[in-house]
Amino acid sequence: MGRSPLALHWKILIGLGAGLVVGLVLNLVGASLSEAAGPEGVVRWWIDFVVSLNGFVGDLFLRALRFIAVPIVLFSLIVGASSLSDLSKLGRIGGETVVIYLATTALAISTGLLLANLVQPGRFVSEAVRNQMALQGSAEALVMMETAAAPDLWTTMLEIVPRNPARALAEGKMLQIVFLALAIGIGLTRISPEKSRPIIAFFDGMTDVILQIVQAVMRVAPYAVFALLVEVIATMGLDVLGALIVYSLVVVGGLAVMSFLVYPAILRVFAGVTPGTFFPAIAPAQLLAFSSSSSSATLPVTLECVEKRLGVREEICSFVVPLGATINMDGTALYQGVAALFIAQLYGIELHLEQQITIILTATLASIGTAGVPGVGLVMLIIVLQSVGMSPEVMASGIAIIFGVDRLLDMCRTTCNVTGDCMVAAVVGATEADPD
Ligand code: ASP
Repeated sequence: MGRSPLALHWKILIGLGAGLVVGLVLNLVGASLSEAAGPEGVVRWWIDFVVSLNGFVGDLFLRALRFIAVPIVLFSLIVGASSLSDLSKLGRIGGETVVIYLATTALAISTGLLLANLVQPGRFVSEAVRNQMALQGSAEALVMMETAAAPDLWTTMLEIVPRNPARALAEGKMLQIVFLALAIGIGLTRISPEKSRPIIAFFDGMTDVILQIVQAVMRVAPYAVFALLVEVIATMGLDVLGALIVYSLVVVGGLAVMSFLVYPAILRVFAGVTPGTFFPAIAPAQLLAFSSSSSSATLPVTLECVEKRLGVREEICSFVVPLGATINMDGTALYQGVAALFIAQLYGIELHLEQQITIILTATLASIGTAGVPGVGLVMLIIVLQSVGMSPEVMASGIAIIFGVDRLLDMCRTTCNVTGDCMVAAVVGATEADPD
């Protein structure tokens, strides 16, 4: 990109690595300081200042991304849908996309369950450590349990149709925006060309304007990723991994299996795309997903990567990618499978095959209506745990125990979520022939 010889994803990776190191150093120095005033107090003040400054820079960047997410989906999808001459094609693409998304999500949870059954991460935590950790995070767990509500499939589906389009846009409800854009796009194919042409040209022009903004935002991504990592790691540290290392490794291992074995295999078979093409193309989106823990915030960059770097046609990716950012959460689903079994193992609860199948169904359905924002996977986990009849006490303690490592795992599962969206876009793009 630009005049610089270094590809964007390398720059982002360097930002990420540097942010990790600086964040860790700040965390370690901060932890070694006593509470006393004097010189140590001054150092503490500076550390807090640097962490807050980085938090500010990171949040500013995420705001910029969120600010372009709604217009980019609206404009590009209207243009995409208006170029689809026959409606049956839209129905086919839609059906294919949703089926692949749900199937890969179910596959991901099954992988998580399989690994957790094999490794039994719950056995690696002693009862004393378990009780102490349950106490530490209990306040947060209780707040979370109050906010979690089981999704009702009918309401979720009803919610796709906005009552008020302006409200859908204002609240950034992605599925409603997709619906609105498709309705306008299809409407445009049905009116006379002299009326539709200027409208399509307007939205097309606006799409280009927004893409300019995306590119400008991407240019600062390496610095922003640095700032995001400094803040997260400095405030959290990596020592939280301690007792939960086996559990964390099972989650990360499962995510790696999905991202580096399952997806490349599907891509090769159904899209003829090799890992050598796929991963460099989508690396900026993956790295941003990792740093932001939000597939919604990453959406503009995911779109740019899939369309411009991977070469999927606009009418396909402007539909498949925003849909994926909302309904496709393979990484989150896998994590929920592992977490549910881990908590069950901690408390000696046996989850039989029927209950594990219930987990697969609940987690797949729960992922449909949930926006990709940081931490939402943990809230959805409560619904999954409820579905297998865990008592509120066990749920509260279980959530409290895994709370400490949640942000780190969120970073990893969001990366898998975004990778899955890109994979499906490439597969749908390859199976749909070029427009005539
Ligand atoms: N943060 C994830 C995402 O945005 C969702 C989750 O919490 O698992 O995709």
